[in-house]
Amino acid sequence: MIQDNLRTINENLPETVEIIAVSKTKPIVDVKEAYEYGQRHFGENKVQELISKAEVLPQDIFWHLIGHLQTNKVKHIASFIHLVHSVDSFKLLKEINKQAAKHERIVNCLLQFHIAEESSKYGLELADAINILEDPEFKMMGNISISGVMGMASFVNDADQIRNEFRSLKNTFDQLKLNYFKNDLRFKEISMGMSGDYQLAIEEGSTIIRVGSIIFGPRN
Ligand SMILES: *Cc1c(COP(=O)(O)O)cnc(C)c1O
Repeated sequence: MIQDNLRTINENLPETVEIIAVSKTKPIVDVKEAYEYGQRHFGENKVQELISKAEVLPQDIFWHLIGHLQTNKVKHIASFIHLVHSVDSFKLLKEINKQAAKHERIVNCLLQFHIAEESSKYGLELADAINILEDPEFKMMGNISISGVMGMASFVNDADQIRNEFRSLKNTFDQLKLNYFKNDLRFKEISMGMSGDYQLAIEEGSTIIRVGSIIFGPRN
């Protein structure tokens, strides 16, 4: 089942788009099944669950933290995390830089933007991001690399609304690229699109989709 699902998604995917298999709440055997198909990028939204899976699964998996990250938990993942999708404050970014330095690593990060109409979702506004990117302290940070942006659309059925939200994230990416990362090839990712809306996201320029239920089945 899981392998069939991955095959179906991959068949219709542009080569420029990376799949993050979101395995939250799903057992190790499910992750292994996806791994055996060849999937190497996995995402979790909770630090504890991510760590307990990473401990028992193959070392060549790239782990993505996709959910809100508390500053005091950064130290638990700094030694191995591949990409933090959910950087939503300067304070968090400073902590990632500090903990990454302890492990002599560079941790890849995405700036998470608030694009949904719901007030519950985390994320920066453009002005917050500009404040970070223009701060002299940011320019001194040697142990983080900003790889791009991430956002979550509203949970609505209105495709036009979702499309507009994705478009606003693509706009934000383009502005930041032009003004702050013009010659930085590492700033290239737009993480947007989940099981219900990833096709729209790809049409609007997504380079990373974070999909769980269409691979592993519905969560309880
Ligand atoms: C759970 C989750 C996903 C995947 O959701 P599906 O609808 O199962 O594809 C993607 N991104 C984030 C941030 C999530 O928490």
